[in-house]
Amino acid sequence: MKDLIIIGAGPAGLSAAIYGIRAGLDCLIIERYSPGGQVMNTDMVENYPGFVDPVGGWELMSRMEEQARRLGVEITSGDVVSVEKKSDAGSLVIGLAGGDPLEARTVIIATGASFRRLGVPGEAEFTGRGVSYCATCDGAFFKGREVVVVGGGDVALEEAHFLTRFASRVYLVHRRDEFRGAKILQDRVLADSKITTVMDTVVSSINGSQKVSGVLLKNRKTGDERELPVEGVFIFVGWDPNTGYLPAGLLNENREIIVDMNMNTKIPGLYAAGDIRSGSKRQIVMACADGATAALEAYNYLSSLQK
Ligand code: NAP
Repeated sequence: MKDLIIIGAGPAGLSAAIYGIRAGLDCLIIERYSPGGQVMNTDMVENYPGFVDPVGGWELMSRMEEQARRLGVEITSGDVVSVEKKSDAGSLVIGLAGGDPLEARTVIIATGASFRRLGVPGEAEFTGRGVSYCATCDGAFFKGREVVVVGGGDVALEEAHFLTRFASRVYLVHRRDEFRGAKILQDRVLADSKITTVMDTVVSSINGSQKVSGVLLKNRKTGDERELPVEGVFIFVGWDPNTGYLPAGLLNENREIIVDMNMNTKIPGLYAAGDIRSGSKRQIVMACADGATAALEAYNYLSSLQK
């Protein structure tokens, strides 16, 4: 049985493993896809301390993974379907799809969040045929084309700017009259001659035959509708926590895991870290801090059991 199993190998999970193994705990990370998490889809990160120049999301996460592996952390692939406590003082049991359950004395849940969908007609049909949720992955397919970016948060603002490397024009469509994203990102977008902002507006449908040929826009204040001919639609309207496999009793109304300031859940020995937990600020540096806090807390908990 492991001292500590960490579910998820994004910034929170990898940081938890780095702190856990350095505290002498026998650690295993279970990851569904490949290590790195959401940040792997981010072109450049310019607010992670220690990097004077912006660092690529892929590079930052590869370095974290390499650091964890160098310290001896084991990373295995698996799809976790349940986490349960055997008894109050007992170990935690992790159910895996198509595999034997694993047991650990402590568990840190760090499975992050997944991008939210708009839920408009045409979105599902044209995903991969003009509709995308990742500018780093798909931006280059739109060289010299016109695209729409939907959203008004940090991600939409950053990715709209990134897409001007390829697209001839980026229409940034936001449902309100002010952006949610950081001021520095707003200023960058407003100063970019290849970006046209379309405020107070929603995308009502995504249209085309074989692939996207346009979107139907609706102004929320005037009710006016118009068709905008574009070949790409990039959707960045936030994230939902990946908590579908967890008991409702651990979650709040937004389906985030409820934790105290030391990342303790309601179950002794079970912790949550990063974008999946209540009150997360959804920043890489904070996910790392959460992971470190949870691992130190797991160490303290295990030490207290031995007394
Ligand atoms: P977010 O901050 O939650 O913003 C989501 C945006 O999508 C909001 O502007 C929201 O509009 C809009 N939206 C939501 N549902 C919509 C719908 N159904 N139709 C149209 N628009 C919709 O999400 P995010 O931009 O993905 O960022 C997530 C978190 O990561 C944030 O906390 C952000 O600060 C953080 N982040 C940080 C960095 C960084 O530090 N470098 C980079 C990326 C992300 P309203 O504004 O009207 O609600």
